[in-house]
Amino acid sequence: MTKSHKSFSPPWIETPPPVTSYRSIFKWGNPTQFKHPNQGLYTYLKNALHLHDEDFVQPSQTGMETLDKELPPRLASHHLTALQSIVGVENVHLDTYSRLRASYGKAMFDLIRLRRHWVENLPDIVLAPRRTEDVKQIVRYCNEQHIPLYVRGGGSSVTRGTEAIRGGVMLDMSVHMNRVLDFNETNQTITVQAGMFGPELERILNHAPKTLNSQYAYTCGHFPQSFEYSSVGGWVVTRGAGQNSTYYGKIEDIVLAQEYVTLRGILRTPAYPRQATGPDFNQIMLGSEGCFGVLTAVTLKVFRYLPQIAGASAISSKPGRKRSVQRVKSCKAKKDTPQSSAYPIPRKPTLPCTCTILPIRPPIMPCKYWAIIPCNAAYCLAHAMAAEAIRATYNATSIPSAVSMKH
Ligand SMILES: Cc1cc2nc3c(=O)[nH]c(=O)nc-3n(C[C@H](O)[C@H](O)[C@H](O)COP(=O)(O)OP(=O)(O)OC[C@H]3O[C@@H](n4cnc5c(N)ncnc54)[C@H](O)[C@@H]3O)c2cc1C
Repeated sequence: MTKSHKSFSPPWIETPPPVTSYRSIFKWGNPTQFKHPNQGLYTYLKNALHLHDEDFVQPSQTGMETLDKELPPRLASHHLTALQSIVGVENVHLDTYSRLRASYGKAMFDLIRLRRHWVENLPDIVLAPRRTEDVKQIVRYCNEQHIPLYVRGGGSSVTRGTEAIRGGVMLDMSVHMNRVLDFNETNQTITVQAGMFGPELERILNHAPKTLNSQYAYTCGHFPQSFEYSSVGGWVVTRGAGQNSTYYGKIEDIVLAQEYVTLRGILRTPAYPRQATGPDFNQIMLGSEGCFGVLTAVTLKVFRYLPQIAGASAISSKPGRKRSVQRVKSCKAKKDTPQSSAYPIPRKPTLPCTCTILPIRPPIMPCKYWAIIPCNAAYCLAHAMAAEAIRATYNATSIPSAVSMKH
């Protein structure tokens, strides 16, 4: 098989990774769901990397093998005992698999290392604090005893931010510290613990009349592509962006207040929208990647969740035009939402050469035409430019895409 055969498709793996395998650490998403490169991408990869079909016949370095290395913790046993007594024995992990899982993120470098069974930079102990008081005691102990301390939310870091390069203690915030602490419908704010994952936050807000006893349903509006497997705390300390940030703002625009456990005690920023004093500690702590303290709670603005006002049409740069129209149509058929921004516009646009549009009458907004700009990695620039053009030409208001298509 030296030539490219149109019918050839690599034997992509469709078996869930074994529980303690290397692959179980790096596989993204639901272990039982699989998404393979389509034929176009496969052909592109072959050409770009000068590979042939036969290079794909026999999978190698799949990471399906079970982790069989045993690397005992190097922390002295009296430290292990002291830390155990803070969080309780059930919230302590010392086995190599748990320590490796906690240390590696989702960067290409992590994936390659796991495929090649490179095990390095493990924390000596993984702790799951139950509450802020646990975090306080752990931070104090580690500080006094000069033990390195790392924090992890969802572990979706692509910058090796969770890697325990000096061993020591890893805090896993996602296990217990994932609850709602406060909801204020008058101020339209919610305060949650840092370890809450995106889907749980949206579930609670979208169903707020039931879950929070509120009058209306809400959304947080922050949808990074790692949404399903990243935590609110992770969004804040990495100063993250989402696919709807052009409308709702980036995370630093959504965060009102933060609570950190630092070496000097608790730092709590006030939950006011604006202050006439400085420096602004909210901004200083945002994006600090855990270097200035452990983020334990966050107060976020919330926005009305209005799935009923969605309309759909398509506008995009030329290369993706056909696909984007199909995408919007298929989303409508499935009553699904394309991950894009939607703009109600007063009349059919005559934007510079590159755009097309489907006229649709949304049920509520008095607008005949809507522009939905699909946003994916390839068209991000086109997205931003088209959005700006629409804003400038029509003084349009953007509508979040986190709304379903109802027609
Ligand atoms: C497929 C994929 C898509 C992605 N898409 C986006 C995107 O669209 N937008 C975007 O901004 N990022 C994106 N990322 C990067 C990553 O998902 C984000 O940085 C995310 O916000 C990290 O959240 P996390 O909970 O997974 O944090 P982790 O990976 O667990 O940690 C990230 C960093 O924050 C620190 N940290 C975590 N929690 C705390 C805490 N409570 N207190 C103190 N420090 C803490 C960690 O020590 C580490 O330095 C993507 C990553 C992947 C793998």
